Amino acid sequence: MHTKTLLELVQGLRSGEFSSVELTQAFLNRIMQHQHLNAYITVTEEIALENAKAADIRLSNGKAELLTGIPIAQKDIFCTLDVKTTCGSKMLDNFTAPYNATVVEKLNQAGAVMLGKLNMDEFAMGSSNETSYYGVVKNPWNTNTVPGGSSGGSAAAVAARLAVCATGTDTGGSIRQPAALCGITGLKPTYGRVSRYGMIAYASSLDQGGPMTHSAEEAAVMLQTMAGFDEKDSTSVDCPVPDYRAGLNNSLAGLKIGLPKEFFGEGLNSEVASTLEIAINEYSKLGAEIKEISMPNLKLAIPAYYVIAPAECSANLSRFDGVRYGYRCENPVDLTDLYTRSRGEGFGKEVKRRILMGTYALSAGYYDAYYIKAQKVRRLISEDFKNALGEVDVIMGPVTPTTAFGIGEKIGNPIEMYLSDIYTIAINLAGVPAMSIPAGFVAGMPVGLQIIGNYFAEDRLLNIAHQYQQVTDWHQHTPKGFE
Ligand code: GLN
Repeated sequence: MHTKTLLELVQGLRSGEFSSVELTQAFLNRIMQHQHLNAYITVTEEIALENAKAADIRLSNGKAELLTGIPIAQKDIFCTLDVKTTCGSKMLDNFTAPYNATVVEKLNQAGAVMLGKLNMDEFAMGSSNETSYYGVVKNPWNTNTVPGGSSGGSAAAVAARLAVCATGTDTGGSIRQPAALCGITGLKPTYGRVSRYGMIAYASSLDQGGPMTHSAEEAAVMLQTMAGFDEKDSTSVDCPVPDYRAGLNNSLAGLKIGLPKEFFGEGLNSEVASTLEIAINEYSKLGAEIKEISMPNLKLAIPAYYVIAPAECSANLSRFDGVRYGYRCENPVDLTDLYTRSRGEGFGKEVKRRILMGTYALSAGYYDAYYIKAQKVRRLISEDFKNALGEVDVIMGPVTPTTAFGIGEKIGNPIEMYLSDIYTIAINLAGVPAMSIPAGFVAGMPVGLQIIGNYFAEDRLLNIAHQYQQVTDWHQHTPKGFE
């Protein structure tokens, strides 16, 4: 059952070939069998079976939606009522939210079955899933390598078929980068398309939730449920949600694809580059016109992001003070001791590094030199996207400079780790949507192709990804040992 696509599973549930309880049990068994991947922080077996029973009743009443009875899993950044939400941190190891995130609520309403909460980098800060308090997640394609981050648990679980689909969040690449490194499809929607209510904040002006699935068609189904205006999120945009599956089969004839020369220069592994060339050539065959473009400010994305994101995180994470919720140190002697030890003991190294960088960048005297300047650069980067997307319909490029790197290889060198976000970060600074789709392998490890579109063009991106997936089968490969 676990090798079927989402829509095949929908068919199987509706025809009575299997029940949601049977399907859910099969996935729970797989999770137990492959615990060594460390993809899950919490497995919600009882809730899953309850959800599945309710879904079976709904299916038999003919009131089912596409996701009714489908086993999915949530990144542990989304608050879940009665189930602990850790955000990958010791700080929230004992935290159970009193409400569901809007994304969780919407998926519950659709009748999806929640298998559990997925591992992630601490507070979504990382590119390798090595900063989690709950330990490293392993890449199912080679367990000595990282799955990418911060939604590494989500990517590993979907790739290894320990969930049909999963949610992820992307502040600077955290949906697309692990999707690329684990050979699955990931979509970061336009900023404001998916509600951030109940999604623990890292950098609020960049954070966006989205689907992680095998195919674009599955991403369309997930996004349909996840997207939409939410009055509880003041940055959520009140603009109608199109039918994402309706345009999947539109022709790509005449589609203008731009390849920024800055994306294909130094730093990109040559085998990854040649794999992408073949993928892009596939688009020519589908009738697209390919054009080289230039986005001169892309090179400023990493320095600007690593000022803005830490600045926002230093403000967002100030709420974890040992008083209101989360970790509290033992026997504090006074208030200062309570604050400093609770934060000192509750946060991991990378989170502390970000808080320090952010506090520094926001401090009087440095605010203009760093924070204001980074905001100006952000504007220039947005202008680059505006100009490029005036010239072409979509932009394509790599997601990551290399395939998955080894566990331990970069964790000691933060700058090198930050550089692995080079192709994803600018997209968040501009707020446009982007996807990563499986586009081949280098030495047995998956390569992702990035497709970037204009604001609210998720439907077009899904169409472009789906057409490629009709003529290639990279998205259907399963890592050895997980068939
Ligand atoms: N790797 C980037 C960071 O550590 C992006 C993380 C993310 O998108 N959540 O900030």
